Amino acid sequence: MSVHHVNTASDLQETYDLLVVGAGPAGLSAAAVAAECGLSVLLCDENGSPGGQIYRGITEASAATKARLGKDYAAGEAIITRFLATSACYAARASVWSIAPYEPEVGEASGLEVGVSLAGAARLIRVRRAILATGALERPFPIPGWTLPGIMTAGSAQIALKTAGLVPSGRTVIAGTGPLLYLLAAQLIGAGASVNAVVDTTPNGNRRRALAHSFDFARSAYGLKGARLLAQVHRYTRVIRNVMALEAAGDGRLSEVVVTYRGGTERLPADLLLLHQGIVPNLNLSLASGCASGWNDRQATFTPTIDEWCQTSVPDIAIAGDAGGIIGAEGSALHGALAGMAAAWRLGRLSEAERDKRAAPVRARLRMALRGRLFLDELFRPGDDFRIPTRPETIVCRCEEVTAGAIRATMPLGVRGPNQMKAYLRCGMGPCQGRLCGLTVTEIIAQERGVAPGEVGYYNVRTPIKPVALKELAALPQSDSAIKAVAGFVEKPVSASHPRTQE
Ligand SMILES: Cc1cc2nc3c(=O)[nH]c(=O)nc-3n(C[C@H](O)[C@H](O)[C@H](O)COP(=O)(O)OP(=O)(O)OC[C@H]3O[C@@H](n4cnc5c(N)ncnc54)[C@H](O)[C@@H]3O)c2cc1C
Repeated sequence: MSVHHVNTASDLQETYDLLVVGAGPAGLSAAAVAAECGLSVLLCDENGSPGGQIYRGITEASAATKARLGKDYAAGEAIITRFLATSACYAARASVWSIAPYEPEVGEASGLEVGVSLAGAARLIRVRRAILATGALERPFPIPGWTLPGIMTAGSAQIALKTAGLVPSGRTVIAGTGPLLYLLAAQLIGAGASVNAVVDTTPNGNRRRALAHSFDFARSAYGLKGARLLAQVHRYTRVIRNVMALEAAGDGRLSEVVVTYRGGTERLPADLLLLHQGIVPNLNLSLASGCASGWNDRQATFTPTIDEWCQTSVPDIAIAGDAGGIIGAEGSALHGALAGMAAAWRLGRLSEAERDKRAAPVRARLRMALRGRLFLDELFRPGDDFRIPTRPETIVCRCEEVTAGAIRATMPLGVRGPNQMKAYLRCGMGPCQGRLCGLTVTEIIAQERGVAPGEVGYYNVRTPIKPVALKELAALPQSDSAIKAVAGFVEKPVSASHPRTQE
């Protein structure tokens, strides 16, 4: 048995039991487990090959790239091999832009209707259930000057390294916080990049809070790995700590990074600045599908509300992996397996007893995999001033070039949340649909109002959540009521004996 590759929209079947969105560790495991239980599964991912963020490009990576990226990267091969050996359907380069309850004009409403774009054409298909394993995004890092050419996120530099073996040239500075910061720095140094400095913006106070969880961390898989990475980075480059402010400067492009730390201000000459302050769940699809979420103060982000089987507030939708709250690659794979079992149980392919029996060892491994996460969350919670820009000229919405000052200026106009703010500014209305500014906007408004971000809420995210060409949407078959809603009438077929009529 092996997966069936779906290359065009017309090759998609009308219906599947289960849609899985995302071919990272969570989605691959969910799809493999569900297909092994006998469900008809469609796995869609917008990347050209399976692996998600951590195992990106692994099926095409050279031996040198694999060696450079280490054991944790190579671990992806086993997950991918298991998935590829199932009977699931796999659509690479397929964007899922909408998921909504299926409500036909006649007949029973059941399951979900899914909008997918593949190879330049869109299709609406039906599925009985969906698992969203859409992973994480790098958290916005809105410092003064962050939109200058010469500045990228550290994750995008890693994507270039994993997919094309590209290594930054010139003087490189890496700045921010989070467990991935040191991993990315070590990977780039190992690949030959000249990393002149790592500017660590982890707030000092975090260390005290993290200490309470240090015993678990020391016993976790992260403990030893973290210590090794820190030693490696310290050996090959300068690490600046106790950072109070960070700014990118240059005339038309980056030329220096201005760092204020305990002890003074330093201007570091730089050709490339890589910014990273952790990752947050990629929420656009789950929010647009109506899944409830709440403010998670420890991770300083919104996370969907899910139960121990990854079930959301929407009956036919589950969320697995980092999309449900940041849990790392190993945790995501195990989480995905639980979501796959739950789907097989809900669709009648596994009894409750069999589901629970299979889940027990997975849950035990998940507990182990999550050990140490509280320490990481506390230690690497980015500082307020790096999440919520204090200087008015700092750009928040990169698509529409809206500044922090402009957002704050809407507050006296009675703005209570991000959606009202849109009445005054185009903030969050560009091509990324708020993915890059959503959290910053919420936190600015919360700060101005003196309330918790959960009270302010997030953008109302609407479908399509990804840019879809108008010709793709226009080519979709339309129902009579949809045509009537737009045109005011439905045209009947013309025959020789009857003139054209309007309904
Ligand atoms: C830039 C970046 C780099 C990272 N690098 C590492 C690393 O080197 N090591 C590490 O341990 N952790 C890394 N992480 C963290 C890592 O992502 C996770 O812990 C792990 O990969 C999560 O697995 P997942 O299956 O939940 O999601 P992911 O692996 O992120 O997979 C999600 C997949 O969903 C797809 N997707 C999302 N939305 C849609 C949609 N609407 N339609 C179709 N497809 C969609 C994406 O293309 C992606 O392939 C990184 C995170 C980021 C953001």
